[in-house]
Amino acid sequence: MPELPEVETIRRDLEKAILHKTFHCVEVYDPLVLRSPLKDFIQGLEGQSIKAIVRKGKALLIQLSNGRYLLVQLMMTGQMVVDAKQDKHTRVVFKFTDDRRVLYNDQRRFGQLRIIKDPSEVKYFNVLGPEPFDKNFNALYIFQQTRKSRRPIKNLLLDHTFVAGLGNIYACEILFCCRLNPKRSAGRITRSQAQDIHEKTVDVLKEAIRYRGSSMRNYRDGSGQKGEFRQRLQVYARGDKPCCVCLSPIRRITQAGRSTFFCPQCQK
Ligand SMILES: [Zn+2]
Repeated sequence: MPELPEVETIRRDLEKAILHKTFHCVEVYDPLVLRSPLKDFIQGLEGQSIKAIVRKGKALLIQLSNGRYLLVQLMMTGQMVVDAKQDKHTRVVFKFTDDRRVLYNDQRRFGQLRIIKDPSEVKYFNVLGPEPFDKNFNALYIFQQTRKSRRPIKNLLLDHTFVAGLGNIYACEILFCCRLNPKRSAGRITRSQAQDIHEKTVDVLKEAIRYRGSSMRNYRDGSGQKGEFRQRLQVYARGDKPCCVCLSPIRRITQAGRSTFFCPQCQK
C-alpha cells in the first residue's frame, strides 16, 4: 500500500504534468472505483482545470476551477500514471486538452475516486492526525500523546489519528533508526525518545521521498517507474537477513495483524 513518500512522489509527478491543465474527457472503464455517480463524476471534471494538487495523509486532493475537488485514494494497488499505455487494470483515463493523459490503474480495485465539495465531508480527513512535516507534529506532541497509551509504539505510529500518512514500511524503519523495540509500550517512551521519534520520522520520510518511495509490489510513481527506496530499507521485508548494524538476523513478528520487522539486538 502506498504510504506518504509514495503518494507525495505521485503528487509531485502529477503537479509537473497536469497542474493548470484542463480535463478534456474522462473515460471510465470500471465504475467500481468511483464513489460518485458515473454521470456526475464525468460531468464534474470535463471542462474543469486543475488549480492545485495536494496530499493529505495517503490521499490526493485535486482542486478544480469550480472549487470542487477530485479525491483520489489509491488504497492497496491504485496508480496514477502519466502518458502510459492502457492495460487491463486501467479503470479510468483522464484526457487533457493538450493531449496529456493520466491513467488510473488499480489491479485490486480497492481504490476510490470521487468528486467532493469540501474536504470536511470526508470522514478520513476529519480524524486525521497531524502531517509528519507539520509543526504540530513535534516531540512534545508525541510525548503527550504517548502518556495515555499502553499500545505498542509500532501500533501507535500506524494509527492515522496520531500521525497522518505513515504505514507499515516506514513505521518499521523509523523504529529501527530510533533503536526502539516495536513492542515497547507507548506510555514508557521518554522525552528524549519522543524527540528521537520526531527527528527520525522526518529524516526517514524525507529520504524516502528523495528516492521516490519504496516499490514492494504495485507502487509506481507518476511516470510508471518503481521507487528506489526499497534497496535502502534496513529492516522492512528483511526477515532473517543480517542487521546492517550488528549482523544478527532481523526478526519478523505480527502486531495488530501486520508484519513488524526489527533487530532484537539493536532495538531495546
Ligand atoms: Zn542489529
